[in-house]
Amino acid sequence: MTVSGAWRRTARGAGLLADDGSVAASIFAEMSALAVRTGALNLGQGFPDEDGPPEVLEAAQRAIRDGMNQYPPGRGLPVLRDAIARHQKRFYGLDLDADRQILVTAGATEALAATILALLEPGDEVVTFEPFYDAYGGLIALGGGIHRTVPLRAPHFQPDLDELRAAVTDKTRLILINDPHNPTGAVFSAETRALIVELAHRHDALIVTDEVYEHLTFGAAHVPISTLPGAWERTITISSGGKTFSTTGWKVGWLSAPAHLVTAILAVKQFLTYVNGAPFQPAMAVGLDLPDSYFTGIADVLRSKRDTLAEGLIRAGFTISVPQGSYFIVADARPLGYAHGADFCRALPGLAGVVAVPISAFCSPAHRHEYASLVRFAYCKTTDVLTQATRNLAALAPA
Ligand SMILES: *Cc1c(COP(=O)(O)O)cnc(C)c1O
Repeated sequence: MTVSGAWRRTARGAGLLADDGSVAASIFAEMSALAVRTGALNLGQGFPDEDGPPEVLEAAQRAIRDGMNQYPPGRGLPVLRDAIARHQKRFYGLDLDADRQILVTAGATEALAATILALLEPGDEVVTFEPFYDAYGGLIALGGGIHRTVPLRAPHFQPDLDELRAAVTDKTRLILINDPHNPTGAVFSAETRALIVELAHRHDALIVTDEVYEHLTFGAAHVPISTLPGAWERTITISSGGKTFSTTGWKVGWLSAPAHLVTAILAVKQFLTYVNGAPFQPAMAVGLDLPDSYFTGIADVLRSKRDTLAEGLIRAGFTISVPQGSYFIVADARPLGYAHGADFCRALPGLAGVVAVPISAFCSPAHRHEYASLVRFAYCKTTDVLTQATRNLAALAPA
């Protein structure tokens, strides 16, 4: 796809177009196309290959049959906002006003986009960890912001707290934290969370948290930063039903924040999508009201999938970081003789019939080299697919 004339200059201004005017090539698209072309098992993109809970799927079908097919309210259907409030109360003890402090969005992605566009002035700084979810870089650029990063380093991918302190300054408008973290699988420590709140206060910054993997942790239960003392008043908490209910294609997300911040974000959101997914919203409400056993069940199943893939990767000769949450394992291909993850990922379908993505895809150009040999494998796949993948990967093991 190419864009010409003034449009091209504008999008390129945010670094979103390649020099030839094409959409800057995404390694995700390249790797997924490679999986299709070669018939390799796609452990590249992070979407589940099984359907989510039948109650949720049926609720959406029922809503369509019942005629819920027109624009829902701008803030989202009350039935979903009420369910989000109940969910935040049940799991985190938060008391939310469903009419003023909650906004339904087109996935977590639109929540992030509307938040960044609403709250950032051109030239403001946004601090994130690095590697970072790829949309962050693009959205900060669209908002005219300056992206500062704090490195997460293998094997544990926890930030150095002095580096975090140094990154947040009076120029920082937003501290954007993804916990549990994609792509590294890290879950951040209580000390890190507390320091983020302390720094936000000291420098009058807002905190934006992306918690789409909130129910997919394998150790201690997830702790939203907004539950920390002094955090609520300056935190925008973002999540989505895509990962929790294996419905990534539905794009129903939400955020919660103090009412004046929600209003500012709504002012932008109304001109992005306005609204989305009317029949999916009551279905998400059914999901959020599922019993505790559903939520512990998905984490247990995912942990056993993580273990299957982790053992397979170790047997194949990789050095891995064991993730504490999310869908992904980061593996180092250096012990197998590959210093360059992108080259390795291009070769992997031929070598082992498996697709992965290089961690460099989640890094800024200046820091890519620090993560050059690392690749990300997704384990949100059926046990059959994971077992087959680990069998294939065994072929890589040095004799
Ligand atoms: C999948 C993902 C998203 C996108 O969520 P949607 O609800 O599909 O928009 C956002 N952040 C992270 C870290 C993700 O992995």
